[in-house]
This record gives sequence, structure tokens and C-alpha cells, in this order.
Amino acid sequence: MFNQMMRAAVLAGPERIEVKQVPVPDVGPGMIEIAVKACGVCGSDVHMWKAGHGWGPMAQAKDFIMGHEFCGVVTHPCDGPFEVGERVTFWANLYCGECDMCRAGQEQLCREVNGQNYMGFVCDGAYAERFVGPWRNAYRLPDTVSDVAAGLIDPLMVAYHAVRRSGIRLHERVLVVGGGIIGQLTAELAKKAGASFVALSKVSEIKTQRARELGVFDAYFDGNAPDRAKQFHEATDGGFDIAIEAVGSGHALATCLDAVRPGGKIIMIGNSIAPEIPFAMNRAVLQEISLIGSVSCTRVEFEETIDLIAKGMIDPTRYVTEVLPLEGLQHAFERQTDPNDPALKFVVKP
Ligand SMILES: [Zn+2]
Ligand SMILES: [Zn+2]
Repeated sequence: MFNQMMRAAVLAGPERIEVKQVPVPDVGPGMIEIAVKACGVCGSDVHMWKAGHGWGPMAQAKDFIMGHEFCGVVTHPCDGPFEVGERVTFWANLYCGECDMCRAGQEQLCREVNGQNYMGFVCDGAYAERFVGPWRNAYRLPDTVSDVAAGLIDPLMVAYHAVRRSGIRLHERVLVVGGGIIGQLTAELAKKAGASFVALSKVSEIKTQRARELGVFDAYFDGNAPDRAKQFHEATDGGFDIAIEAVGSGHALATCLDAVRPGGKIIMIGNSIAPEIPFAMNRAVLQEISLIGSVSCTRVEFEETIDLIAKGMIDPTRYVTEVLPLEGLQHAFERQTDPNDPALKFVVKP
């Protein structure tokens, strides 16, 4: 029997997306098939787009399909608990469900797959008309969560988990370092969690255009200013309680260190491409700064993230620059990597 065909935006080489016909994957036990309705374009896709391949042997093969922030309508429920026509979103974070971390409800730290095993990174994702994946990772979408909003659940869950990891308390002051979509969403949630002052430290003026229009931040700082530490401390009367690193660079981490008060916390969300970065360790020691890593979220938090949107606590579609067809994906990557383009977030509708 021949597979049905579908249109997919495949990674054909470095900085090259091609839309072409590929076979719809087989639906095996434990899997479901959906017709993809929306898929968010993520900053981490950009790294693969530049390299021209995904992670690991399976994704290095030809015709790799990225896309891990998506939703769709069930077309083939197989042995899963869903019905044809139901709207679902997938948690791209694969997990074994059996190790000590999974059993403790910390699936994002799964011993098998921690930080390495995401749909659209190690296996085909959803920049295509159809997607086939494990139904254990699928979640029903309430009608109050639009397709485009569902395309932003993934960055929102990262922000949600980070804000919870920060243990923020009423009236604390928060600095977000990095003005990308994760930084924006983190700032909005920090405000909702009780921060009295949320500021942005950025290095590009152009990329903060949308942030300024939306007015989530109370203040803006130039991360390249030689006297940035002085500016941070003057604006907060002694330093921020919490700094959030949402870039993944030594420069951004050093900015956080300059920003926090003694006893403050630095939450690290950014994925650094370099395996090691220099760090002024003794300053963190002498000032008892807590360094807290944060990745993805727990399975329960993923469901709560859907609910945040469903309950109207946050509308992530405010941050969307443009919704594009599959053919627009190449254009989206070009705009996202252009330092002179204020684009913040793209969503593709196959
Ligand atoms: Zn993502
Ligand atoms: Zn596990």
C-alpha cells in the first residue's frame, strides 16, 4: 500500500526551506494523526535552519521537517482516547514516563530525554499538512484557545515554568534580559505574578519596537551601556530581586549579575550554543546569588499553560507579527534573523 502524500516545508539545506510533497507518516500503535492548523516559528528552529539539519541521526537524514509549537484536528485517532475532529495541541517534550524524574512529575527532567528529545528536533515536526505523533503528548484544546494562540503555548510554557521557578513574591522587581518572545511572555507573567517593576535589558532597539507598543515593561535599559550596573541599581534602589536570562549568552548572564541585589536570583532560560561560557563566579559566591536553570515545563504545567489562555489570563496572539502559509516559512526565518527587522513571532498555517 502506498502512503498518502502531503505538502510539507522541509529543511533542504543550510538556510533553505523547500515546500514539497512527502508521504504522510504511518500511524502506529500509541500514535495519532492530525491535520495541522497552526505551527509557531521558534527561535530554536533558527539554529537548525542555519545548520541545515535537525538533531541526532534521524533528523540529519534528508527531508527533515521542523516545527514543535502546533495544534490541529484529529484525523486518525488509532488507539488513542481522541475522536476524529477533536482539536488538540502537542507537548513537544518527549518523556519516558517511567524514570524517577517522570514519576516525580518532573517530566522535563526525564532521565531518558532531558533537553534533547523534542518533536521537530530529533524527529519530524509539524510544518506540514499532517503530523503523526504519540497521543500521550496530545492535549484537547478548549474552544477559547484559537489555533494561532495554540501556536504560542510552547513559548508560554517556558515563561510560565521560569516564573514559577523564580518563586517570585508580591512587589519584587524583575529584570528580563532578552527581548524575544520568551522574554516578552515572561515579563507579562511576572507582572501577573505580582512583580511591582518589570524592566527589559536589550541590545537591539529595533527588536523592542513591539514591546514598546504593548507596554508590558516599566523601563528599558541598554545592556551594552558601560555603566549598566549603576543604572540598574539606581532604578531599583539597590538591585533587582530577580533577573531572567532569556538569551543564552555570557554577555546576558553577566548583565544579570550586574542587575541583582545581594541574595538575588538569576533564572537561566536561554539555550547557549557554546558549551561553556565564562562567568564571574566569585561575585555570585560573595553576594549569595542563586543561579536557577529552567527548561520546558512539567506535564501538569503544560496543561495549566493551556488553561492560562483559555481563562483569558494572557493573550499571546498580541505578540504575533504575522500569520503565514507554509510557503512563507523561508521568509519568516529570513526576517527573524534580520537584525534590522522588528519581527517578534511568526505562526505558519499549513
Ligand atoms: Zn519553541
Ligand atoms: Zn523519564
